[in-house]
Amino acid sequence: MTPLVRAAYAAQKTLIRGVPLALIAGLGGYVGLRGAASVSSLETGASFAVMAALFVWRLSARKKRSGAALAVTDAELVAVGIVAATALALRLEGHLDGSLFAANYVVLGIAAATAQASAVGAGIATLVALEVLARGLVPSSLVPIAWHAGFASLFSALNHIVLRAEVARLRARAKARLEAEIERLHDSARRYRLLDAPRSVEAGPRSRVDDERIARSSVEEIHQAVMFSLELVRRSLGLHTAILLWLNDSGTHLRVAELSTDGDVSDGPFLAGDGVLGAALSRRAPVSLGQLKPTFKLPYYAGPCPVGSVSAVPVFEQGELRGLLVADRRGAGGFTQQEEEQLTAATRHAVRVIQNERVFLQLERAKVEQGKLYRAAEALGEAASEAEVIQAAVKGAREFASFDFAAVTLHDPKTRQHEIRAVSGDGAEPLLGARFAHGNGLVSMVVENKHALPYKGELEARQVVFSPRVTMPPVASVLVLPLVVHDKPLGTIVLGARRRGAFGEAVNPTHEVLARHVAVSLANARMMKKLEDLATTDGLTGLLNKRALIDTAAEKIAAAHRFRRKLSVLVTDIDFFKRVNDTYGHDIGDQVIKGLGEILKQKKRSTDAVARFGGEEFVMLCEETDAEGARLVAERIREDLAKTVFQTPNGPLQVNCSLGVATYPEAGRDWDALFKSADEALYASKRGGRDRVTVWSPARGTRAA
Ligand code: GH3
Ligand code: MG
Ligand code: MG
Repeated sequence: MTPLVRAAYAAQKTLIRGVPLALIAGLGGYVGLRGAASVSSLETGASFAVMAALFVWRLSARKKRSGAALAVTDAELVAVGIVAATALALRLEGHLDGSLFAANYVVLGIAAATAQASAVGAGIATLVALEVLARGLVPSSLVPIAWHAGFASLFSALNHIVLRAEVARLRARAKARLEAEIERLHDSARRYRLLDAPRSVEAGPRSRVDDERIARSSVEEIHQAVMFSLELVRRSLGLHTAILLWLNDSGTHLRVAELSTDGDVSDGPFLAGDGVLGAALSRRAPVSLGQLKPTFKLPYYAGPCPVGSVSAVPVFEQGELRGLLVADRRGAGGFTQQEEEQLTAATRHAVRVIQNERVFLQLERAKVEQGKLYRAAEALGEAASEAEVIQAAVKGAREFASFDFAAVTLHDPKTRQHEIRAVSGDGAEPLLGARFAHGNGLVSMVVENKHALPYKGELEARQVVFSPRVTMPPVASVLVLPLVVHDKPLGTIVLGARRRGAFGEAVNPTHEVLARHVAVSLANARMMKKLEDLATTDGLTGLLNKRALIDTAAEKIAAAHRFRRKLSVLVTDIDFFKRVNDTYGHDIGDQVIKGLGEILKQKKRSTDAVARFGGEEFVMLCEETDAEGARLVAERIREDLAKTVFQTPNGPLQVNCSLGVATYPEAGRDWDALFKSADEALYASKRGGRDRVTVWSPARGTRAA
């Protein structure tokens, strides 16, 4: 089966590269031009029509996907195959009962094994359609059609089962081979300490790919360099075998790291304490023997000893015993001291190569990490608002080690509430905006203690990240990093990965750097916001200031104009306020101003804008409010203030206010005109006896209520 599957795959691959178009066109032309001579015109026409339709369909599909590579669906390929086989049967045999028509079963069989169910279905449908057309839709010929369709289905189902199994087996074998290859690479990389523990290898799919790419090139570099020096000593000393053996971590076994030999050498591992190898290791000095008999046991030769002399030279790395360089040759005369020195020099060379690669690797890794950090920092630097910083943080974090989940939480120390402000990852969306109280979850603990948790990045089953009610998508590894500026915790970055051990034993310094960057950017954004607020709000009341209100007014008037809506302006001024100041003092005066500010805040709807315009004068802009609506609002403000009792050291104090109302567009089409009208109305209120509302009217200029 295997070659058949391979051939099918190869055929499919070739066909996908555009052959179908040529095939459809060619066959269509052929049947169209010559088929008519030997088969009935209906049959020819039918085949031709199907092929022409396919051709047109392909062309249009190709046009739609302009720029994209031409992709052919499995269903199309099968349809092409069946049309071709049918056309051939018609052409050569003149009918559909011969052996050539049966070739369609082969097409369907291959389709069943390599293509999807839809392709097989399309194939059978094409087959039946062609047969119906070719037999001229004569009812008496439906029986063979049914036979063919049934047989085609059965055949493809059988092949589907048998070949699918074969394909699965092949895939499994390829996967196993790939995994073994990766394992070998890791083995070598770990042996030379290119990878520090399994951590970096499992840091995440993307960093894993990066790491593998870098480590692969280093392993290859070491292999080349060490092989070269082994070959060199082998030639110069006339050796049978030169072999670099590496100790495992516990020092109990030796494994073949690199090898240059004329003979047959087994891979090991070999016990480190045995024989001549054990002697060199325990003495930590070269050991050479001559006059070896065939019965002498050299562990890396399976059969009788093929050599007469052997020399084992320990390999040291910064004083630490790492393995042996073993050389042997047929001659029984042993090794001279000079030759031992040459072998020792070769071990030093090998160690230097390994160390160089280690440094190179560290630099490469640092470069990759730094690149990511740089991009993240750049994005954070460009983010101006808090929301933008948080978005950039989540994006940056996801970039780092391809976590499956990332979130930023912010903590409000006043309300002791946490809020999830940004999320990224599958199934994370519903968490956006979720709030939870400060408690025992990891996020709360990290904010409390200002260091990352949990220590090993492993999420235990009963551990809560956010709160019992606000839960993470399922992950096996989690890391919560604090966002701290000037020792103040602002919130956290939460990273999650479905794999176990994704974050290793310790917090990666790069993650911490990222968290610090985010925290600083966040603090900056907040500072900017504060400055902006300072520039636009009134310090005493927290309402807008005059400048900000005039800006807002221009926008609101433009909107009112665009949507042909009303817009009303209310101007308020406290009556006889100088007396308040004079009698009760400036501080009480301030309290009264604040009190009126509070009343206005309560009365304002979310789309309205209120500003302290200076002194004890306020302005309110009410969207979609006509003069009558605005008058009612103004009345309520007036009544509320009149009812308010201010407690002072000199006893209770009550004040009144006067208001003026003007409405766009009647009372003015721009801010200056509108405000002037409202001010005129206010003046009319004052003139009319105060403690009242006046609506500007075109008839009399103003009208007191
Ligand atoms: P009228 O009924 O005509 O409005 O009389 P009035 O005394 O309220 O007159 P006006 O509105 O012109 O008075 C404004 C006074 O408000 C002048 C000033 O002493 C006082 N004032 C202005 N700003 C502040 C402030 O920030 N705090 C306090 N306590 N008083 C202020
Ligand atoms: Mg005033
Ligand atoms: Mg006043």
